[in-house]
Amino acid sequence: MAHSSQALVISCSDPRLNAGGIEAVIVREMICSNQNFDRLIWPGGGKDLLSTDPAIVDYWLAAIKKLWELHHFPKIVLIWHDTCGAYGISNLHEEETTQTTDLAAITQLLAEKFSQLTVERFILQGTDTGDFSLKRV
Ligand SMILES: [Zn+2]
Repeated sequence: MAHSSQALVISCSDPRLNAGGIEAVIVREMICSNQNFDRLIWPGGGKDLLSTDPAIVDYWLAAIKKLWELHHFPKIVLIWHDTCGAYGISNLHEEETTQTTDLAAITQLLAEKFSQLTVERFILQGTDTGDFSLKRV
């Protein structure tokens, strides 16, 4: 039976995100009205969409395309997080600046490849404490 979802959420595999209840935060912050959303979970979120290796980028784009063909979500939601080991930047301000730049570049790439979709981007703050808040960037 055909099934559709509200969004594709791309986020990091860091277990602190699970422990803090990232899926509930997505609903609480009204990004989706319930937990009917696809997820792609990988170290650093979709950071590898900016890889210099075209095979890695192609793999990511193929995965997104496949999920869209299955579930026809209208939007992609990028959620990066603070103190991310995949970034390895100890200064929180520098990390946020770098992640914000990456998220903008990834949004542009996804908008070119999947023009039917909107892209929203956030940085999840409070990873260390589990007291999560989402900052739209
Ligand atoms: Zn991470």
